[in-house]
Amino acid sequence: MRDFPISHVSTGDILRTHIASKTELGVLANSYVSRGDLVPDSVMVSLVQQELRQHSGDKHWLLDGFPRTLQQAKALAEPATGVAVDYVIHLDIPKQTIIERISNRWIHAPSGRVYAYDYNPPKVRGKDDVTGEPLVQRDDDKPETVAQRLDKYAQMTTPLVEFYSQPTSDGRKRLVTFAGTESDVIYPQVKAFLESVL
Ligand code: AMP
Repeated sequence: MRDFPISHVSTGDILRTHIASKTELGVLANSYVSRGDLVPDSVMVSLVQQELRQHSGDKHWLLDGFPRTLQQAKALAEPATGVAVDYVIHLDIPKQTIIERISNRWIHAPSGRVYAYDYNPPKVRGKDDVTGEPLVQRDDDKPETVAQRLDKYAQMTTPLVEFYSQPTSDGRKRLVTFAGTESDVIYPQVKAFLESVL
């Protein structure tokens, strides 16, 4: 994490690494990710448990993109997982804002360079700045895939929000919601919150 001493564990990034190197998990995951579907809970839970074991010495960590289902949240809460979730950051952003933002993202696949047509455009539309090669849109960044993901996300978020709205056994509130459309506005609020609790 840029501003904090927090290990960033992103399930999307981990899956993309597996997909790019065509591991057994990557080939399996790709059949779901490319359609905008969630990878099965059993696969995700063992992946995250393994990842958290590697981070067991870290003081703080941020789980990004996990849990996405109630089953994943319940598995994470199992004592065997060996970690406790202190806070859940819930970003409440309008659907159309997300579709526009994500479908503006284009990449140069061989180098991994990422462009955003709204705030970090390539010098020539559709071409990588360094090589001039064509940019591509990740399958899961295409507007129709994003819309499909968001519909599923909305259906799945409600039970998760309810789950994390329950106070902890010591009566602490874990769910913290930030609403808005601009990351420039929301991020300082998230940062201030994290600074207050770290
Ligand atoms: P992300 O970069 O977090 O949006 O993740 C990209 C894709 O990876 C998602 O659309 C899912 O297909 C898959 N994925 C990431 N995290 C999870 C998760 N916790 N459970 C199931 N699938 C996931």
